[in-house]
Amino acid sequence: MKHVWLTPRAHADLLRARERAQPLEACGLLVGCTSGDRTQVLRAVRLPNRARDPKRFSLCPTSWMRVEGAARRLALTIVGPWHTHPDQTAQPSQLDYQHGWPGRPNLIVGCDGIRGWVQAETQALAGELRIEFTQR
Ligand SMILES: [Zn+2]
Repeated sequence: MKHVWLTPRAHADLLRARERAQPLEACGLLVGCTSGDRTQVLRAVRLPNRARDPKRFSLCPTSWMRVEGAARRLALTIVGPWHTHPDQTAQPSQLDYQHGWPGRPNLIVGCDGIRGWVQAETQALAGELRIEFTQR
């Protein structure tokens, strides 16, 4: 099982985004760093959701580029996407699996907390992600 570490800031970003977007779905990018097997998420940046369907998400490309530039200036990278389930658990849907980013941690914030999975390079699933919390 792969692990991803969330700082208290990233954890708070995710929970707050779900809360504030209610009853709509929020989405964004995980900014952090990866070294070897360890992925650390320092911030979860919320992006405008461009999806017309309130039960879906589509990241705004302009904001995406802005976040990517800001991350690079801090020697960080975009490690994966996240989105919220306003009225459901954090269990990924079939659609989530179909649109997950290959080889990356994909996180979901639901009514039962945060869950994630690593998308396989193919359609097959690579399995659940273990989420750890750092002290700072
Ligand atoms: Zn979803």
